[in-house]
Amino acid sequence: MIRAYIALGSNLEDPRQQVTDALQELRAIPNTEMLAHSRLYRSDPVGPPGQPDYINAVACLETTLEAEQLLDALQAIEQAHDRVRKQHWGPRTLDLDILLFGDQLISTERLTVPHAFMSERSFVLYPLAEIAPELQLPEGTDLKQLLSQCPMGTLEPIAL
Ligand code: ATP
Ligand code: MG
Ligand code: MG
Repeated sequence: MIRAYIALGSNLEDPRQQVTDALQELRAIPNTEMLAHSRLYRSDPVGPPGQPDYINAVACLETTLEAEQLLDALQAIEQAHDRVRKQHWGPRTLDLDILLFGDQLISTERLTVPHAFMSERSFVLYPLAEIAPELQLPEGTDLKQLLSQCPMGTLEPIAL
């Protein structure tokens, strides 16, 4: 069993519903259980200007899948949400990223784990801290230390 943390994000076509539905769909991944998920958060868009706000959340899964199999399952869910990849960091109906996969360090064509930008993204770190406040990253950094270096900015939890 491996504990994996997944970041969810959406800023198109009713983002709140996209993320709420995706949380249910994560529960349906074979050989996988959801242990916890954060509240939903609203954040300002990164990347090209003029995009709608994002809704973000983080989920903790326990799985017997391999990392690439989990990525396959996440990408199938993204596809089912009509994710179209047009612009790098452009607006999207649903983004599902693997933040951490146990204490594995993965660097392949398809996967970089821990997620390359997680340390600098408030919309990842704060929801993650909500469900795993004592988390330590594989190379020994405490999540608390990352949080202290990453202001919450305009990120805010939203009522469900
Ligand atoms: P960012 O990485 O900045 O969050 P993004 O999530 O918008 O960007 P995508 O278009 O969703 O990027 O994915 C591009 C590719 O990233 C995917 O095809 C996937 O193979 C690769 N990838 C690498 N590492 C990961 C990871 N940890 N989780 C999900 N996808 C990953
Ligand atoms: Mg992403
Ligand atoms: Mg992605």
